[in-house]
Amino acid sequence: MAKIDLFRRPMPKQTPKERIKNFSEVALGYTPQLAIEEAKRCLQCKKPLCIGGCPVEINIPGFIKAIAENNFPEAIRIIKEKNSLPAICGRVCPQEEQCEKVCVFVKKQAPVAIGRLERFAADWEADSKTESLKAESQNNSNNKKVGVVGAGPAGLTVASDLIQLGYPVTIFEALHEAGGVLIYGIPEFRLPKAIVKREVEYICKLGVKLFCNFVVGKTRTVDELLEEYGALFIGSGAGLPWFMNIPGENLNGIYSANEYLTRANLMKAYLFPEYDTPIKRGKSVAVIGGGNVAMDAARVALRLGADKVSIVYRRSRTEMPARLEEIENAEEEGIIFEYLTLPTRYIGDENNWVKEMECLRMELGEPDASGRRRPIPIKGSEFITPVEVVVVAIGQSPNPLIPQTTSGLEIGKNGNIIADEKTGKTTKKGIFAGGDVTRGGATVILAMGDARVAARSIDEYLKTGEW
Ligand code: FAD
Ligand code: SF4
Repeated sequence: MAKIDLFRRPMPKQTPKERIKNFSEVALGYTPQLAIEEAKRCLQCKKPLCIGGCPVEINIPGFIKAIAENNFPEAIRIIKEKNSLPAICGRVCPQEEQCEKVCVFVKKQAPVAIGRLERFAADWEADSKTESLKAESQNNSNNKKVGVVGAGPAGLTVASDLIQLGYPVTIFEALHEAGGVLIYGIPEFRLPKAIVKREVEYICKLGVKLFCNFVVGKTRTVDELLEEYGALFIGSGAGLPWFMNIPGENLNGIYSANEYLTRANLMKAYLFPEYDTPIKRGKSVAVIGGGNVAMDAARVALRLGADKVSIVYRRSRTEMPARLEEIENAEEEGIIFEYLTLPTRYIGDENNWVKEMECLRMELGEPDASGRRRPIPIKGSEFITPVEVVVVAIGQSPNPLIPQTTSGLEIGKNGNIIADEKTGKTTKKGIFAGGDVTRGGATVILAMGDARVAARSIDEYLKTGEW
């Protein structure tokens, strides 16, 4: 019987002191030796629960075994059978909630570091400049074209799957760069943009056509595209930020996280003066919310030179939706967590710049519909605190442009496009959808999982014509 090794190899990282002064990647990745040691911990379970925990069903023990045997090309080959964006997933997927959550070692609090190993294999491939997967054009007799709206993880995955089935695929992207949130939202220090670009280039090398600066609903409508394409997949994400609608929220210095991160990441405000993108660099910054978006915005603010950055969250640490790893990184970097706190209004100076924020303290009651304990305001607990920049990161929903300009496309709560979970079919024939546009803000891997389902179903629809 294999010897049980409960030592989960830690990820080498930049020290907090050093990393808050730069935008370079925080986690440095496993060395080959660390990767092999970690891979050898895997028990190669006969019934590997980890595969069931992966939304795209990667053969996890298979690729880990290959790493343990020092066969890195085989490891990446196995991963890419199911996942065309491994360097990205290995960095940002919430593995602790998915594959690692069901690894047999989880009871001993030492699940095999599946995500770190996936990242290692993908980075090894990039560093060794080999490419394991080539598009094998399967003879597609009807040759119907597929159009994809949005070049985020959902759109890129559907495109990659369908081109490999032999369909000509074209992606229409509104921004000037492909990648979706991966390029405009998640900061460089968590996901280097060169990696996103590399994955996009890979998909283009497979033969996918990409048109940027193409806003579907404006440049051309979905209905117009449907005249030319046999099927369309909508993966336009959830880019419409929510606000709390409290007094003073439109003062200068108050940003949505979407705008703040787009300025910092996509428009490279952090490289000022090389890039001349304006962004207010306050000394005291408050970020409202407790998800990954809030953690990213807070850590960006710190790197832009703030002395004090607070995360203001209305529940406690236990209920925070952000990945544990990112909460810990933020804590290590000195971000202050104001738990059980709710902003109620902002106060401006004579030039309409925010200068103070009024908050209420909360306590937790019974669980609400989300299963988390409901925050209840404590009467008379109001207090005022000085602040120069506020970033609101309380959630987002899909932009209404596409449903508004498309006939027969039904939307649900919060403007999400309604699509069948098992097929990705929307209420309009020939149109499929997945990712954040159907779920609201979710995760990269769920967007990819939806895309995989939709790709299969598009293939079937184009072959049979049956809806
Ligand atoms: P998106 O990534 O939003 O891509 C949609 C694309 O469609 C965009 O490029 C957009 O420009 C384009 N588009 C929109 N409208 C149109 C139009 N009309 N015409 C043409 N193109 C259009 N998930 C994780 O798993 N782990 C994390 O650590 C994590 N961190 C995050 C941090 C931040 C700051 C944010 C904002 C999100 C984070 N997420 C994370 C969530 C994750 O990024 C999303 O769930 C995922 O990107 C959704 O993929 P998507 O393809 O559905 O949409
Ligand atoms: Fe390996 Fe854990 Fe998967 Fe078992 S559950 S095969 S130990 S990664």
